[in-house]
Amino acid sequence: MTRELSSSAARIRVLPELVINQIAAGEVIERPASVVKELVENALDAGATHVRIELEDGGAKLIRVTDDGIGMGERDLALAFQPHATSKLFDASDLEHIATLGFRGEALASIGSVARCRLFSRERGAALGAELENQGGNLSPIRSKGGPEGTQFEARDLFYNTPARRRFLKTASTELSRSVDVIQRLALAHEGVGFVLTHDGRRVYDVEAEMDAAARIRRTFGSELADHLQPIDAEWQGTSIGGFVAPPRFAKHDTSRQMWFLNGRPLRDKLLSRVLKEAYKGFLVEGRQPIAILSLALDPSRVDVNVHPAKAEVRFRDERVLFGFLLNVLREAVRRTDMATPGSALLASAERREFGRHSPNALQTHFLDRPSFVAEPRRESETFASDSRLSRDPIVRVEARELAPNADPALASEQLAHEPIGPVLQIHNTYLIRALEDGFEIADQHALHERITFEDLLAEVERGSVAVQRWLAPELVELTRAQTELVEEHRESFARLGLVLERFGPQTVAVHGLPARLKKPDVEGLVRDVLELVEQKGRAPDAREILEEVLHRTACRSSVMAGDPLDEAEIRELFRRGRAISSDQTCVHARPTRVRFTLADLEKAFHRR
Ligand code: ADP
Ligand code: MG
Repeated sequence: MTRELSSSAARIRVLPELVINQIAAGEVIERPASVVKELVENALDAGATHVRIELEDGGAKLIRVTDDGIGMGERDLALAFQPHATSKLFDASDLEHIATLGFRGEALASIGSVARCRLFSRERGAALGAELENQGGNLSPIRSKGGPEGTQFEARDLFYNTPARRRFLKTASTELSRSVDVIQRLALAHEGVGFVLTHDGRRVYDVEAEMDAAARIRRTFGSELADHLQPIDAEWQGTSIGGFVAPPRFAKHDTSRQMWFLNGRPLRDKLLSRVLKEAYKGFLVEGRQPIAILSLALDPSRVDVNVHPAKAEVRFRDERVLFGFLLNVLREAVRRTDMATPGSALLASAERREFGRHSPNALQTHFLDRPSFVAEPRRESETFASDSRLSRDPIVRVEARELAPNADPALASEQLAHEPIGPVLQIHNTYLIRALEDGFEIADQHALHERITFEDLLAEVERGSVAVQRWLAPELVELTRAQTELVEEHRESFARLGLVLERFGPQTVAVHGLPARLKKPDVEGLVRDVLELVEQKGRAPDAREILEEVLHRTACRSSVMAGDPLDEAEIRELFRRGRAISSDQTCVHARPTRVRFTLADLEKAFHRR
């Protein structure tokens, strides 16, 4: 390698601007939905009250966004496609308190480098508008042109000059569903703004400017879900959370119906997804994702939004404290949701089976069965490595302003309507039926009893007062040497959980007592399960974990079994104890404990209406 360097050109070159912009576009513009997001955010930043989004072929062929915002004059138009050209940020200190959706001045330059663009704008109050084109970074001269006030941006043939990216686009319906998702989130976050989204000339989604939050939710999620949402409104040390959580039975396979807003900006954030998952723990079947629409408001200086080019992720200061606050508020709200399986859902599915057609009232038809709306499972929605450091933190006590509007007379009377009246019945030694003021309810006695045993035990552990049943003669359990060592090591922690264990021999443990609530425990199985859990975690046992992962199984085994006859007093007692705990609506494995038929359901079943 004796090439002469002095006379040859330098090997390092500054890249041409088009390439620089295409590289930047790689970070921000991944697919049509990212273009839609950037353009609609620009419209919102421009103060638009009506935004129209037209897509063709999932957006790959055409994305056109039209707004009635403040518009741009000719001098702005000339700069709009320049990288790092923005009207929203002047100096570095502005980064500390960003109130607009955009601020990086990169979007239009990026889009301009990967699509054939046309930008028309007429400033508010100006006599005429102007237009220019951008073909792969080549700007046309600016021409004066008539048109409505506001801005219209057109991006055609996305990635026409970067075929590698173009190949990554999915089918039109998949790409469309991602754009729908983006628009729905923005529409929920921006009351006062109307949105219309069309695809190949067909209207796919819209909300009118006048629609309030509740109406937007109804339009977006369907009325079946909207009718069952549990409101949240709490504040703590300058951080407030508002919005809604849905009963666990509405849960989906992906997080497409989890909507978080931070100071009005839609975001996906691992911390927030985790807190939601945690709040639904014990009420959700494995692999399901809860539905929630939640807005966080906190001082912009307590969160950094400038950590991700698409601004989808943020970084919170004081994450652990925030986590504790949110978990507390959300868990409480989840427990208040109506978890009974509605009789109407059963009737609808029975009807479908019978007539082989979709009933218009079926639960699913409202929001689950709209193929174009259902986004594909997202990669980032997959379970996040659970970081138990956060979840084990002591829960922050909060002054919740009001978790549910108990003052709401409609709700109060609904709660009353679910109070038992009249006789109760046991069917097949398994199901309990009782009359309600507005219908009747069927409970699964085993599932109900299991939840009661679990919650009582949890309450005892949290109070540090587990009632222990001590035996005169210990039961001996054979274990491995390592497990026997563990028993010795964690003897005191086990005792606090009501597990009175002692090493008896090198491979034998003596069980002297267990929590009194466990009626007919399988001693050996229980001890093995506990030790396996501790081995697996590799650390001291955590009360909640042991309870959730081991004792609930025992609670299940020792509960009133399906098949135990109960007399009326016992049934009443079971319901009474259920009411006394904070939620008796699902069993510990998240199966519902009851099905409820309202008068409306009965009228429907008998074709009275
Ligand atoms: P950013 O939004 O980060 O400032 P963009 O590249 O998205 O950067 O836009 C550049 C600039 O163009 C914006 O700062 C704004 O001044 C102007 N602009 C873009 N879209 C619109 C619009 N729809 N209405 C008015 N001005 C717009
Ligand atoms: Mg922008």
